[in-house]
Amino acid sequence: MINIAGYKEILAEANKHDATLVAVSKKQPNERIQAFYALGQRDFGENYVQELVPKHDVLPQDIRWHFIGHLQSNKVKEIATFVHLIHSVDRFSLLKEIDKQGAKIGRTIDVLIQIYVGSEDTKFGLDEKELLEVLEYYSAQKLNHVRICGFMGMASNTSDEEKIVKEFHQMKDVFEMMKTQFFFGKEHFNTLSIGMSGDYQLALANGSNMLRVGSSIFGARSY
Ligand SMILES: *Cc1c(COP(=O)(O)O)cnc(C)c1O
Repeated sequence: MINIAGYKEILAEANKHDATLVAVSKKQPNERIQAFYALGQRDFGENYVQELVPKHDVLPQDIRWHFIGHLQSNKVKEIATFVHLIHSVDRFSLLKEIDKQGAKIGRTIDVLIQIYVGSEDTKFGLDEKELLEVLEYYSAQKLNHVRICGFMGMASNTSDEEKIVKEFHQMKDVFEMMKTQFFFGKEHFNTLSIGMSGDYQLALANGSNMLRVGSSIFGARSY
């Protein structure tokens, strides 16, 4: 069962903060996506290429598809023609592959770099040192068909709100720092994708302008 009241509440809060709500539809049937589409929702997020491609084929063409999962380089070409924003770039070789596929079809593909600030062992995304390396490579090379528009991050999976807030602060700080250092005057570098079902309010209060919310609006995922 989808949660329409919950969706409307989150959407209202997102709008209050000028944030985009990406409805994370991984492992959800097309009928549920259609239901949110009918309410006006256009931004949807998916984690798996093999799931996204068939959904894109049959669902309305004005949906903006966000790719938020781990992306294998050899799968980029399958989504390059239509993906709206790739949130999960976590290595320079992937950035180069996206640029290559974009060049082939004459399209500039928008991406976010996935960053990591926590202290847990399960690490997804780039820490500050790795991020600096990637941005230095990016600035030094002419990649005309991939455009970095900001960062995506996930807070630690914990009920400790203070820890979550601290991590969101760190992400916002890194965002502002890198904006000054590498994207000065670049209007398109403007997106900080943080906040999921469990922490979207904390994220909005701490600098998020793009939420990725799944289970709390779609209901449980079917695996
Ligand atoms: C699944 C997923 C989400 C949505 O998580 P919910 O807890 O269901 O809101 C957000 N971001 C990423 C990267 C995800 O993989």
